[in-house]
Amino acid sequence: FKVPQPTNEPIYSYAVGSSERQLLQDTLHTLRNKQVEIPMRIHGKSVQGSKKVAMNVPHDHQHILGYYYEGGKKEIAEAIESALSAKAAWAALTWQERVSIFLKAADLSANKYRMELNARTMLGQSKNAYQAEIDSACEWVDFLRFNAHYAAQIYADQPISSPGVWNRLEYRPLEGFVYALTPFNFTAIAGNLPAAPAMMGNTVVWKPAPQQIYSAAILMQILEEAGLPAGVINLVFADGPEAGEVVFKHREFAGIHFTGSTKVFQTIWQNIGNNIANYKSYPRIVGETGGKDFVIAHASAEVKALVTGLIRGAFEYQGQKCSAASRAYVPASLWPAVKSQLQSDLAKIKVGVTEDFGNFVNAVIDQKAFDKITSYVQEAKNSKEVEVIAGGGFDASKGYFVEPTVLLTTNPHYRTMEEEIFGPVLTIYVYPDHDWRATLNLVDQTSAYALTGAIFSQDTYALSEAAKALENAAGNLYLNDKCTGAVVGQQPFGGARASGTNDKAGSYLNLLRWVSPRTVKEVF
Ligand code: NAD
Repeated sequence: FKVPQPTNEPIYSYAVGSSERQLLQDTLHTLRNKQVEIPMRIHGKSVQGSKKVAMNVPHDHQHILGYYYEGGKKEIAEAIESALSAKAAWAALTWQERVSIFLKAADLSANKYRMELNARTMLGQSKNAYQAEIDSACEWVDFLRFNAHYAAQIYADQPISSPGVWNRLEYRPLEGFVYALTPFNFTAIAGNLPAAPAMMGNTVVWKPAPQQIYSAAILMQILEEAGLPAGVINLVFADGPEAGEVVFKHREFAGIHFTGSTKVFQTIWQNIGNNIANYKSYPRIVGETGGKDFVIAHASAEVKALVTGLIRGAFEYQGQKCSAASRAYVPASLWPAVKSQLQSDLAKIKVGVTEDFGNFVNAVIDQKAFDKITSYVQEAKNSKEVEVIAGGGFDASKGYFVEPTVLLTTNPHYRTMEEEIFGPVLTIYVYPDHDWRATLNLVDQTSAYALTGAIFSQDTYALSEAAKALENAAGNLYLNDKCTGAVVGQQPFGGARASGTNDKAGSYLNLLRWVSPRTVKEVF
């Protein structure tokens, strides 16, 4: 029994005059004018915590989309009990029965709920129509369909037997519950982190980032409409450290599926370590974390392709992608052409609200992100080691807008070459052409992260040389392309070093982390 090889969900273009553009605009209009109330979902029931929290539009922060109800330790404990009580019945279903629920959720997402998923991501997370489409429609649907396909392959993989002996591997779920702790920046990732372990027979407590609750609610609704039994995924809203105090002290804690910042993941790992003797089993710790993703150009690079790669890689979704290009190394011989192309292309880019589909750059997620990003920009403006090549402006009066900003530094270890800013800021270091090999070493050694990277070169030897020199510097390496936009089923995604446990989201490698196989030998 196999799940057919899926194809990637086609991307809608939302072209001017198209019916899908009209539909999306109508959905945006409806949602903007309707205030929603979002309760937690514990054991298939709506639960209202004690605190009511407003959700606003990042590019129009006075506009309230509605409220969610935040819980505390009590609700987290209830969600854990719910997951544990739903476990036996869920794990007892055949894997085909489980997978069919997620395949149905994929179809509901691709059709009935596509516009609402995108509109919620556009309003709540300030993504433009294209960025929402490749996230909350395509990537989410692809995660569900490709994981179903990979799950089938895992279950089919069996050891050899001999006459009179039957050996088999039972891919059982982990014992206990799984905790999914998810980030604000991708609706698809937020959905996949609970869905992937659940597909493999686990039951889950899911705590999304507060800024993503507006779109998380519709993901949960879709999963329930597809037939997900009560208690399999329990959606809770709570303060992260407070929730962690209950989750990581629980004896039945079986694993965490995390995506977020490196610092938070390290804190969590320490918490888990502190409680290690209390757990029934060693928990699975799967985390995809921060990045300081590089672009290096060889003197043979094609300037137009390089600049497109830099602009799309650094500024799509305001640089709030873990994979975003944020440090670049350009040879001196190419710099004048690269600089003028960058400046002229960036002059054409529009910054503004997502409801105007002509805007390429929208708002950053919230005041805290705005303050962090602009403090880097302000410091750079005052530094003798930095020149602002483009952008540098910001304004939070109506929305949290930061212009796409390009910094040129003479110091390859300047702060913005090393630290994750998570905003629309790209720093460039110009190296002497003859220092190509030394620069490869510099790229490898400059940052603690190793998530994505891109090499631009028309010289195949240089391309191979760089790929070899940077073999530990990125979990996802792009040759002559931007360093963002991994597609499920095409480029399994994840990084090493401070960027994560590299369990490759959207692949069988990730799903294998959510099973605890039992080997059975039977003699006839
Ligand atoms: P974050 O680390 O602030 O939050 C992630 C989740 O952890 C949220 O649900 C949050 O509420 C919770 N949390 C925060 N502090 C906590 C604590 N002390 N204890 C327990 N839980 C806590 O991340 P974010 O701002 O939502 O997302 C941006 C980060 O995610 C960036 O660093 C980005 O690089 C990373 N990211 C990585 C990938 C990847 O695949 N490597 C993908 C997307 C985002």
